[in-house]
Amino acid sequence: MADCLFCKIAQRELEADVVYETGAVLAFRDIAPVAPTHVLLIPKEHLASVADVTTAHGDVLVEMLAAMSSLAESENLTGGYRIVTNVGSDAGQSVNHLHWHLIGGRKMEWPPG
Ligand code: 5GP
Ligand code: ZN
Repeated sequence: MADCLFCKIAQRELEADVVYETGAVLAFRDIAPVAPTHVLLIPKEHLASVADVTTAHGDVLVEMLAAMSSLAESENLTGGYRIVTNVGSDAGQSVNHLHWHLIGGRKMEWPPG
């Protein structure tokens, strides 16, 4: 999608510290990490958020969930980790291309702010 930051990263028009890639998904380090590990995982296909997900996206979603558990392993997040996706302004979504935050490497609190 034109003018979408994460589409541009997916198409390698913008630089990112990529840690994982397949034909359908890309993972890269967040530019403003909130924990020792903070990776963003996106589908290469533009979807604005999980609110746009349908059953037709089942394969890519399963791929993303599996990718996050392998990333957690390769990032050595043995103490646990959090996966988060923000939807809409109340949740603080700032980039309107579906992304999962994989956050770990420190103790976290609940509920989030
Ligand atoms: P959201 O606020 O939509 O849940 O998450 C967007 C995330 O994208 C934020 O954590 C922010 O730091 C990250 N981000 C914004 N712009 C860039 C960028 O150009 N490169 C990278 N790697 N991360 C970005
Ligand atoms: Zn996009």
